[in-house]
Amino acid sequence: MKIRFDKMTVAFKEVVAVNQLDLDIPEGELVCLLGPSGCGKSTTLFALAGLYKPTSGKILFNEQDVSGLPPEKRGIGLVFQNYALYAHMTVEQNILFPLENRRVPKDEARKRALKAAQLCKIDGLLKRTPAQLSGGQQQRVAIARALVKNPTILLLDEPLSNLDARLRIEMREEIRRIQQATKVTTIFVTHDQEEAMSISDRLIVMKDGVLQQSDSPQDMYNHPANLFVAKFLGNPPINVVEGSVKGGKVYVGDQVIAEKKIRDCEKAYIGIRPEGFKIVETEEDKKRAFKVKIDYCEILGRDTTLHFNLGGVPVRAIVISEGDIKAGDEVLIAIRHRSLHVFDGETEVIINE
Ligand code: ADP
Ligand code: MG
Repeated sequence: MKIRFDKMTVAFKEVVAVNQLDLDIPEGELVCLLGPSGCGKSTTLFALAGLYKPTSGKILFNEQDVSGLPPEKRGIGLVFQNYALYAHMTVEQNILFPLENRRVPKDEARKRALKAAQLCKIDGLLKRTPAQLSGGQQQRVAIARALVKNPTILLLDEPLSNLDARLRIEMREEIRRIQQATKVTTIFVTHDQEEAMSISDRLIVMKDGVLQQSDSPQDMYNHPANLFVAKFLGNPPINVVEGSVKGGKVYVGDQVIAEKKIRDCEKAYIGIRPEGFKIVETEEDKKRAFKVKIDYCEILGRDTTLHFNLGGVPVRAIVISEGDIKAGDEVLIAIRHRSLHVFDGETEVIINE
């Protein structure tokens, strides 16, 4: 199902949880809704599910306004962080539950439950109760239960938050696999940027109820729309230094650190990804290079992290380990063009070339 938010606002008295959201979600994609706690992710999902009504604006499914449609008529499967399984029922009964009251013949219901269980790889656990399952298995049951209705939209609200680190990685790959097998339009809410980057076709970043950017993970990483998005994506995070731009030159203090064909800006934030630095070796690179004094080095096998100071800010550069740079060395460094992002110092919006 294709989803469109048309200037949708959801307010709770004075709190505007989602503010004028304009957004299109194409059919069949796995989309991650990403942002810090309280930015309006769950409210957006609950509005899609019909549990909250927009204060203004609309939600459209395949161009049809569904803003007034009750939850049970929307064809949505929901999965929450706390699996919300019925403790006194078996796995099979839990998965079958949404089909009760739907006049699905018993045989067909059981077939569908088995199919959903197979897809989620829990068909060997049907007679167990939730207490006899691990966290990851319980979440698989919750996903199977959401899928048994053959939803046209699957919504997952921080489904992995209760799992340990290893299981989280395993389960996010499982969610990706299940989504690709079913092709159901899926919205996955998380505050974990790495989780979001790793599985989604599209990322949607929100802050304070306001959409910041919607793009493919790689495009958003390479072309952040503003400083908030640039800082939210990437681990280790982007380095941010105050500077300025004049005549196509990017300055930190009096030092030119790069050239970029952008407008002048007296006060700018300069964002440089850790992998965006290179140790200068060729004559060509020397023209764009500047000297830094290494505070310390972390050698991590393939990569080395160099720590130095730029414009009074400690920065981190990740370079391939070679040569023998040590603390105290002065090295010539240059910035790779695509890893350098300049933001307006007032609006924090990217200054484009
Ligand atoms: P997220 O899921 O991104 O953490 P939420 O959508 O839950 O954020 O909340 C967004 C904002 O709306 C927060 O400020 C939250 O306190 C507020 N909020 C959410 N639900 C309610 C509610 N039922 N009543 C009042 N305020 C709410
Ligand atoms: Mg939430």
